[in-house]
Amino acid sequence: MDEFKLPDFFFEVFTASLPRLGPGDDDSTRKALRMAFQGWERSADDKTLRILDIGCGNGAQTMQLALNTQGDITALDNHAPFLEELRRRAGKAGVAARIRTVCKSMCSLGEADGLFDLIWSEGALSLYNMSFEQGLAACRERLAPGGRMAVSDLAWFKADPPQECREFFNNVYPGISGLEENLARMRQMGYRVLGHFNLPETAWRENYFKPLAAQIDSVRESFSADPDRKALLESLEYEGEVYRKYSSWYGYTFFVLQRE
Ligand code: SAH
Repeated sequence: MDEFKLPDFFFEVFTASLPRLGPGDDDSTRKALRMAFQGWERSADDKTLRILDIGCGNGAQTMQLALNTQGDITALDNHAPFLEELRRRAGKAGVAARIRTVCKSMCSLGEADGLFDLIWSEGALSLYNMSFEQGLAACRERLAPGGRMAVSDLAWFKADPPQECREFFNNVYPGISGLEENLARMRQMGYRVLGHFNLPETAWRENYFKPLAAQIDSVRESFSADPDRKALLESLEYEGEVYRKYSSWYGYTFFVLQRE
């Protein structure tokens, strides 16, 4: 498969020093974790739990997985500097021994990677290379029988969004779906839906857009001479503007699933 590759300058904005690389927050990670363990014979204290964090980035949610379980964590991302920062954070938190970082594309996940009891993915499964559905299918193959999965993805919160908002997503994420469509699709793929909830707006505003805006300001001058770099900043700022205007129409939905 030919993989989409982001330009290097993308990572001059999305640096490993950002608190996280997409919308999210620790409370939501822990909430999804509680849902995942509800009614399961495996407990969070089980040292034999095999956990996979896909598109882990610099590890915001990986740290929560490590601090709130005793499992063995594989943290996968295809951008090495993010994994370096993740290892630094893990060392600081004293959980490095339970986290193995793997630098490769999620598209190449296969039998050789083994099976996992819990697969996690926050804001990363439906990126440039895969549709949400392809991502869910690939994860199901790596889930042990009865295994659980938690994933957050962009979703409509209400039907019939305003035209500007719809047009924005036609360009950036035409596959965005509403709750019923997502639930039906997951069930059809052989997942039982254990729970779902929407991320609060602070997960976007405080944890994602605010640090990103500071980052954008810090590179603005050095990016100003190059049209491609300028266009990236403009598109990121437009993304923020669309969110400010239309945050009641869309956001991230967290789904907690079980392999049937
Ligand atoms: N889960 C993290 C990061 C989300 S951003 C958080 O919430 O902070 C999406 C992440 O997916 C980035 O770290 C990016 O490097 C990673 N990514 C993008 N394409 C990928 C691919 N094909 N394989 C593995 N990781 C990928």
